[in-house]
Amino acid sequence: MTPARPLPVIAIHGGAGTMSRSDISSEQHTAYHAALNGILRAGQKVLAGGGSALDAVGMAVELLEDCPLFNAGHGAVFTHDETHELDAMVMDGATRRAGAVACVTRIRRPVRAARAVMERSGHVLLVGPGAEAFAAEHGLEMVAPGYFSTDARRQQLRRALSSDKAVLDHDGAALVFRNAPIDEDRKLGTVGAVALDARGNLAAATSTGGMTNKRPGRVGDSPVVGAGTYADNRTAAISCTGTGEMFMRTVAAYDICARMAYAGQSLGEAAQTVVMQVLPAIGGRGGLIAVDAQGNLSLPFNTEGMYRGWARVGEAPVTAIYACHADTVDVAAGAAS
Ligand code: ASP
Repeated sequence: MTPARPLPVIAIHGGAGTMSRSDISSEQHTAYHAALNGILRAGQKVLAGGGSALDAVGMAVELLEDCPLFNAGHGAVFTHDETHELDAMVMDGATRRAGAVACVTRIRRPVRAARAVMERSGHVLLVGPGAEAFAAEHGLEMVAPGYFSTDARRQQLRRALSSDKAVLDHDGAALVFRNAPIDEDRKLGTVGAVALDARGNLAAATSTGGMTNKRPGRVGDSPVVGAGTYADNRTAAISCTGTGEMFMRTVAAYDICARMAYAGQSLGEAAQTVVMQVLPAIGGRGGLIAVDAQGNLSLPFNTEGMYRGWARVGEAPVTAIYACHADTVDVAAGAAS
């Protein structure tokens, strides 16, 4: 008997962090779950229609970039100089092609620019004005830098400036985020998606405003191949969120694939080891979402919560915020009937 084909599946994250100090109403929780749910359904629809994992993760991350509840695109954090510098990357597990942009200030949808870099530039990573010129030449939507600003992020910067630290995205918001389930002053802020499609291909995408109060010119893990984003059909697709410097130093996403390929670890073992042992050993905080070629999922984090969810084709999406249930961290593959 031939083994059952895994169901196509998409998983997303919207950053990790500590629980809010505020009392959170059920309406506030509902708003976050509803946003994650709607984005998962959109990605699920792409996969159900025979779309590629690459298309599904691109669409999901664009929707996350546009959603002001999460830190990427509109609502991105501020640098120390009160500017925005955005990073994004996509990777195709079938071919191991990758595309990324970093330190861009005027591209409305950085993840779309990352895909254009992958498909049309002959390069992997373009930064700053060169990346913006490339995006404009290829007809991508450009915006004034103020498009990304919100009052909440500006106040987050003020608080970070007074402590003179670079803080993870959701470690520094304010007003509109005061009642978010994950404390905006202690939250990491990046969005991402991973998917397995009906043809068995994997893909990953990540987009971020980086860390509040970061030094201009700083690039985090998100647009660095193998650090914050990686995809390889032979092992897994991964998108990370957290203290980018530590994810870069541990080559976190690639380490999971290497453990699977060289040490025969399962996705869950490899992802848990990296998030619960390798990263904390050097002070790394955050989490990641991962899917393997058999459709198993792993969504570990070493903070109190991580906005996350997944949806298999034909099944209701599942969304979660806190670390309450083990079955929202490691999830076995579903089989197509
Ligand atoms: N990893 C991102 C960065 O370092 C930040 C985050 O996930 O919050 O740029």
